Amino acid sequence: MLARIDLRGSALPGVPELAGLLPRAATDIDSVLATVRPLCEDVRVRGAQAVREITARLDGVDAEDFAVPADAIDAALAGIDPAVRAALEESIARVRRVHADQRRTDVTTEVVPGGTVTERWLPVRRVGLYVPGGLAPLVSSVVMNVVPAQIAGVESIAVASPPQRDHGGLPDPGVLAACALLGVGEVYAVGGAQAIAVFGYGAGSCEPVDLVTGPGNVYVTAAKRLLRGLIGIDSEAGPTEVAILADDTADPVHVAADLVSQAEHDPLAGAVLVTDSEALADAVLDLVPGQVAATKHSDRITTALDGSQSGIVLVDDVDAGLRVVDAYAAEHLEIQTRDARAVAMRVRNAGAVFVGAWSPVSLGDYIAGSNHVLPTGGCARHSSGLSVQSFLRGIHLVEYDEQALADVAGHVDALAGAEDLPAHAAAVRARQHP
Ligand code: NAD
Repeated sequence: MLARIDLRGSALPGVPELAGLLPRAATDIDSVLATVRPLCEDVRVRGAQAVREITARLDGVDAEDFAVPADAIDAALAGIDPAVRAALEESIARVRRVHADQRRTDVTTEVVPGGTVTERWLPVRRVGLYVPGGLAPLVSSVVMNVVPAQIAGVESIAVASPPQRDHGGLPDPGVLAACALLGVGEVYAVGGAQAIAVFGYGAGSCEPVDLVTGPGNVYVTAAKRLLRGLIGIDSEAGPTEVAILADDTADPVHVAADLVSQAEHDPLAGAVLVTDSEALADAVLDLVPGQVAATKHSDRITTALDGSQSGIVLVDDVDAGLRVVDAYAAEHLEIQTRDARAVAMRVRNAGAVFVGAWSPVSLGDYIAGSNHVLPTGGCARHSSGLSVQSFLRGIHLVEYDEQALADVAGHVDALAGAEDLPAHAAAVRARQHP
């Protein structure tokens, strides 16, 4: 069960030491790379036949073609539970509302009279969107991937999700129905690292893509890291994590439920409570075993809440708590303290911050309007969650007229001389009339 780490009573160490003291799943991407590299190489060399064999071995499904037929996508939408359909439609509307505001516009800067630089934002042409489906079919991940890609203006969108044995080797019907609701017709029944390789190299009827986004388990994350460069990726959105910064105003029932709910995703998930209240820590420790025992996926959750990757950290005050959560750089960070918004505004490192008692991570997972594809494993120190921006590239358009170039030629000369690159200076001088 949850580790108890007491950091009270003495000065906190520096960030690297502090991060080392905190529990986190030891997802050794290097050791997983050893599994994933041959899988990806096999798909590169042998294409669809390799995909078929790997899928049979890892997912227990042997299908001639991993492209999902259009009529299966239509049938999934026709058969969807009306309550799930209504929830998906509301989620799509809210995610669209938030992401529409992210679209950047082109900006032209007049650097000098006659000299401008325009920044153009152009979508990548083709993307591969990964939707997890190993332990749970993440229907919501269809929305989180597809909506920002569509708002960015991506012209070619393909989705991949693991085949399900109990659904005739197709992805989960909810995943297919969500694709149908969003107008996505190119869907592949392939999961894990092999799906990322299909996107990267192309296989069967799937053409290679320019960019892969989406969350996934450690194999998916390792494959994204491996193929980065050949393709673009969003962030390393691996096994989920939640950190909760709470004081004595937090309700221990809510805190325990939020720790347990994120642990439900994966045995490699992490859940950390940081608090200056010993009473809250004790109450949460008392409540968690009962909540775990009462829920469906208690085995997975028990593994995730193991002391090596999840725990309760006691600190002297909220200021110290902020230093701890910044060092941890959680994918999801909840603030359940007095003046929660003011505390949240002081956070520097987190994939997304959930402010106050009424904004649990489960809301963000589905329907807050925010994106749930977020950086894990400390990557929130340097990366952002998925957004419209993830699908755009900024291109500078440089446009000077003859006089504006002549005016700056002396500076080009000087800098080219400093770099010992005289041909650079000559390229400007060649345009000058005596
Ligand atoms: P998944 O779709 O990511 O992975 C399932 C696939 O993994 C299977 O199709 C299989 O081919 C492959 N696989 C399984 N065992 C393997 C092995 N031993 N070797 C090689 N490949 C293997 O589904 P999942 O496993 O349920 O994981 C989903 C993950 O997504 C969870 O960890 C969850 O926390 C994470 N998630 C992250 C975010 C985020 O933004 N960071 C958001 C949602 C979900």
